[in-house]
Amino acid sequence: MLRVQSEAIYRKACAVIPGGVNSPVRAFSGLGLSPLIVESGAGDQIKDVDGNVLIDYCLSWGPLILGHAHPTVVKGVSEQLAKGSSFGIATEIEQRLAEKIVHLIPSLEKIRFVSSGTEATMTALRLARGYTERPKIIKLIGNYHGHHDALLVQAGSGVSSLNPLATSKGIHAGAIADTLLFSFNDTAAIRSFFQSNPMAGQVAAVIVEPVAGNMGVVPPEPGFLEMLREETLRVGALLIFDEVMTGFRVGLQGAQGLYGINPDLTCFGKVIGGGFPVAAVGGKAAIMDHLAPLGQVYQAGTLSGNPVAMRAGWETLCQIEQPGFYEDLFRKTELLVKKIQASIKKTHAKACVQHVGSMLTLFLGVEQVRNKQEAASVDEQQFAKMFRFLLEKGIYIPPASQEAWFLSSAHTEVHIDFTAEAISEFFEKNV
Ligand SMILES: *Cc1c(COP(=O)(O)O)cnc(C)c1O
Repeated sequence: MLRVQSEAIYRKACAVIPGGVNSPVRAFSGLGLSPLIVESGAGDQIKDVDGNVLIDYCLSWGPLILGHAHPTVVKGVSEQLAKGSSFGIATEIEQRLAEKIVHLIPSLEKIRFVSSGTEATMTALRLARGYTERPKIIKLIGNYHGHHDALLVQAGSGVSSLNPLATSKGIHAGAIADTLLFSFNDTAAIRSFFQSNPMAGQVAAVIVEPVAGNMGVVPPEPGFLEMLREETLRVGALLIFDEVMTGFRVGLQGAQGLYGINPDLTCFGKVIGGGFPVAAVGGKAAIMDHLAPLGQVYQAGTLSGNPVAMRAGWETLCQIEQPGFYEDLFRKTELLVKKIQASIKKTHAKACVQHVGSMLTLFLGVEQVRNKQEAASVDEQQFAKMFRFLLEKGIYIPPASQEAWFLSSAHTEVHIDFTAEAISEFFEKNV
């Protein structure tokens, strides 16, 4: 595959942007390739600046559940854009999108829009601490909640592939001193902490990705989320579901609908912006009303609730709430998953596919992943090889081994079959 233009632009970008990218995981670290420079996207495909067309399973890291440049999103956004792009004054579309989401998700009474998932989880923590007047936060190892200080502790793949030992330099000890870490899916250890550790009463909140996606897709084991709900309720801590990835991705009610758990606060992002910078934190009014201007927990944003971005979210939600949307999306995801599983079996490859809803990960070199420790034992070299093999075939998967792959309603069965066959060919040649 010729990538002359990509390489030239990347070289120039490196002179003026650290590492040539505005988010580290785009840099293709450890893959032995210079990164893609994309020119456009349509449906389930992207085209790079050299004219190479690739079937896209990264989908901007999750937001594009309708695929690229969906016609009704483009039309709605264009209409909104023509009326002005930002006011710093409340607009009707904010109220309409808020009402739609609050009606769709039973655990929400109110919602506040922000511009990134990072801001959403940062706000949720501040709100939890302000509401409970307690200092400590529990975070699960391998879960990623964005890049603000308090939660950048043993956080997911983008971080681990760059800096396997530490979290990040530049975070002072005080910022993470009240962040307690437990292993994802370790029901017994967390229950025991809540039942016998004197610090349990100082916990403001547990924040969790209800289906972990940032160490690759790792579903919660039966009883894990239920335990978090029971124990937080018992000690008066809040349960925060970070559904930035899973919200509107694993179902219309997100992971909380799928597993039947009512969190106190929920963070959204990705899909709710339909490819634009939108995220949110929502929950019970009694908690949410502690936010300024009603309450004393401060939060703000010049572009929060931006009307163009709100319209993209609105148009996206209008599509995904149509009857049959998720059935069709999940059927297509399962088609891909089953075919990959069949070729793993046939070739006796040491690998596994884990999936929930329309997110999946093909882990190489491991048979099951339940937590970060198991995710960390994936075969990185084999992954780099597979990534390059698929790229040559015209298939783009997320450029790191412990990431979620996504499907959209735009993915065709022809492209899914083609992808499954390419993966099968990779296994045949590489086991
Ligand atoms: C992507 C992600 C975030 C961070 O969102 P940004 O918009 O990148 O700041 C937070 N939590 C989860 C679960 C995510 O997947």
